[in-house]
Amino acid sequence: MGALMRAVDWSKTAVGPVEGWPSPLKTTVRTLLECRLPMYLAWGREFTQFYNDAYRPILGSTKHPQAMGGRAPETWPELWATIGPMWDEVWRGRSFGSDNFRLTLERNGYPEDCYFNFSYSPVRDEAGAVAGVLVTFAETTAQVMSERRLMEERDKLNNILQNLNDGIFTVDTGANIVDMNAVALRMHGYSSLEEAQRAAPSREAHFEVRTAEGKVLPLPEWPVMRVLRGERFSDVELRVRLRKQDSSWIGSYSGTPIHDAQGNVRLGVISLRDVTERRQLLENEKSARRAVEKSEAKFRSIFNLAAVGIARSDPQSGLFLEVNRRFEELTGYSAEELSRLTFSDITHPEDRQRDREGFRAFAQGSLPSFRTQKRYVRKDGRVVWVNLEAVAGAHGPDGRMLETIGIIQDITEEKQALLAVEERERRFRVLANSMPQIVWMARPDGTFDYFNERWFEYTGVSETAPMGPVPCEGVVHPDDSTRGREAWLLSIRTGEPLYTESRLRRGDDGTYRWFLTRAIPVRGDDGAVVRWFGTSTDIDQQKRAEELLAHSGELFRRVTETIPQAVWRTNLDGSADYFSQRFYEIVGYGPKDFLGWGWSELIHPDDRHHVLEEWRRCRDALIPVSYEFRVLGSDGRYRWFLAQGNPHRNERGEVDKYYGTWTRIDEQKHAQAELLELTQELQASVRARDEFLSLASHELKTPLTTLKLQAQVLQRGVEKNDARLGRERLGQLAEQSKRQIARLERLIDDMLDISRIRTGRLTLRLEKADFVELVREVLERMQHQFDAARLPAPELSASAAIAGVFDRLRMEQVMTNLLTNAIRYGGGQPIAVRVAEAGERVRLEVSDRGVGIAPEDHERIFERFERVMRPSEVSGLGLGLFITRQIVRAHGGDVRVESQLGHGSTFIVELPRTAVTGGEGVHVV
Ligand code: ADP
Repeated sequence: MGALMRAVDWSKTAVGPVEGWPSPLKTTVRTLLECRLPMYLAWGREFTQFYNDAYRPILGSTKHPQAMGGRAPETWPELWATIGPMWDEVWRGRSFGSDNFRLTLERNGYPEDCYFNFSYSPVRDEAGAVAGVLVTFAETTAQVMSERRLMEERDKLNNILQNLNDGIFTVDTGANIVDMNAVALRMHGYSSLEEAQRAAPSREAHFEVRTAEGKVLPLPEWPVMRVLRGERFSDVELRVRLRKQDSSWIGSYSGTPIHDAQGNVRLGVISLRDVTERRQLLENEKSARRAVEKSEAKFRSIFNLAAVGIARSDPQSGLFLEVNRRFEELTGYSAEELSRLTFSDITHPEDRQRDREGFRAFAQGSLPSFRTQKRYVRKDGRVVWVNLEAVAGAHGPDGRMLETIGIIQDITEEKQALLAVEERERRFRVLANSMPQIVWMARPDGTFDYFNERWFEYTGVSETAPMGPVPCEGVVHPDDSTRGREAWLLSIRTGEPLYTESRLRRGDDGTYRWFLTRAIPVRGDDGAVVRWFGTSTDIDQQKRAEELLAHSGELFRRVTETIPQAVWRTNLDGSADYFSQRFYEIVGYGPKDFLGWGWSELIHPDDRHHVLEEWRRCRDALIPVSYEFRVLGSDGRYRWFLAQGNPHRNERGEVDKYYGTWTRIDEQKHAQAELLELTQELQASVRARDEFLSLASHELKTPLTTLKLQAQVLQRGVEKNDARLGRERLGQLAEQSKRQIARLERLIDDMLDISRIRTGRLTLRLEKADFVELVREVLERMQHQFDAARLPAPELSASAAIAGVFDRLRMEQVMTNLLTNAIRYGGGQPIAVRVAEAGERVRLEVSDRGVGIAPEDHERIFERFERVMRPSEVSGLGLGLFITRQIVRAHGGDVRVESQLGHGSTFIVELPRTAVTGGEGVHVV
């Protein structure tokens, strides 16, 4: 640097040649050059710069060496705005300094953050006035760096502490909180470290601390205090209650004191973990275990003291594993003896088989429990009846039953009582069956549960038929059943004895005989009816005699029953009180269905209103009634009836009843309907024929008119000897005439066919022929028609030959019809023909791409005279398809169409290869 200084031509600078420098400048520059710390001097108001070696790096690579002797504002343009004013202050005599000032230097070839303490101080001249600014530097980079590293470490640690699952906090020797992580804050109910620090001195007011056993812990024993006394401890479990929140937790505490060099405690670190849940789980487990033990004990005591026998046994061997005292008493064996026996060993021999089978099903797991009644043979040989219910006791890991628990109840007494009852019943039955009457029994609610043999013999009802509340439907005469049932229901309700007469049907021949039925209630100790005991005695003979005498209207009845109509009688309101037997025969119902208003219910709903109206009208006028209506038969069908009736006058001449008859008029009605239908059909066909005739005459007339015109042209030409009537023109005329004649011919043929078909004279001449060849021939023959329509010959897809038996000419007619239609309705588009074998059948398809046919017309077009009418369309009679179908059907086949409007049509003919003839009106020659 000395060299550099010497190299500068100072006389060109503001300070002038070195010799003239004032001595403070000289002294300062010398000091500066010798100093090891960076030093810089700006002299004079020109700020002429001096600096030493140590300062050089601060200038970097760009400012040195020009800076030496240069002016500060020129060297530091980027800093001048900042340091200029400061230096002004220095000129006023003040010093400045700054610590850890950062400068980015390139002293080692790359930019580097460096830190400096620096100071600006004034340098004075001999007169004491400020003449320069001395800048000294001390580098502090290393110090700054180490501080920063320390801070980073602290942050890192803090981070770790804050993210720990455990709570952790430190206290100083005054028990003040120094630090506390988030978990610990949360556990103590603090929202910030400051709050914790504020609360620490009064911690006793905030928390209550108890030992795991629940003893309150005095403050000196709290972890904070212990650790500050220098104790080190771990996993001390304490219960802490936060007084304010009234919540508590169990914490596991560890404490570590931190000592200084002299061995004095400087800090205490306490970590704690919330173990509340773990504790709780442990507690629960304990109490669960206690509950199990308790229930086990309870089971034991039930097992031993139970009033029923309990036996644990091995389902595989059947050996008893453990039995209770009651079971010992029941069987007379000791537990010791039973441990060598299986349950089969002590089961009564007659029950063993059944018992074993039932148990096996259960042990295999197909039944949830096993229940049975059986007998044990006691050690002393006595037999006891027991009710046994077995359930699965425990299952092995493979799901196999390890043991069964049987509950055994002694039912010997009940069983004997029951057997005694059964015995009594048996004796009763013998007795009841020896009586000449029908004997029966019923439960208090009227359900029959016993009939003696007489009943089954007389009624023919099967002994296995269900009895129920109505003993065998159809035994009591329909006329008596309502009355009988009502009497029986009354007895059941009141407990009064039953007394009723009714006719019962004899199973042998279906006749009814009168019976007197009596029943008396059997009462229990408390007076309630426990049973009905009844008898039915045959009183038919005496009854008939009574009846004969009693019935004065016998003659009337006999008459009404003989005449072919059904006879009825109604009151003036219309309710019926008599219907003759014949009614039931005709309609198939019993009297109960007709009497009262029943008759009107059976009338067809559509007729009912009218009938009732008519009845009211005639009844009001007291004139005869007559109406027709349909009645629902018991077979579910309606039949027509004519009802006629007359008012009846009593002795006083007043109308009191109507008497009348019902006559079946089904046949008349049907005949009528049929007639109507026929007439309508007839009208329709007359209309169709009229339409046809006008259509046909129009159709016939068109070619005729053309022919006539052509004939006139010819005639005129011949008369006038017209030169234009050359050979060519004549040929044309002849050709045209031929076409019209062909058209006429076709029309006439069709019409002839129709009449043939109608009169059943369609004749088939069957012969062996080849379908494919036939189709080829027809296509060839029609070539000129395709030409006339400017169509290519239809493409034909067919196998080589399909032999069959059919009427050649008729089949030709079918094909011609379909092809002609395809030309006429095909819209000038190409036509395709397919012939194929389908098993024993031949299938012919004619497809066009023309107008198509709407689905609703698919069937109709095959009818006679039916056409799909469209404006300005091809003329025709609507016969072609009809004839086609008749011919195909006569061969045993059929024809149908597949088509959609606008998408062309495909007509499909399917025929047996060998015609199966025999349609109506078909002759085969
Ligand atoms: P006609 O053509 O003389 O009226 P047809 O019995 O041959 O009598 O046909 C009955 C009707 O069926 C025709 O009027 C026509 O509307 C319809 N039809 C027949 N063939 C076709 C076809 N290929 N495409 C569209 N419509 C058809």
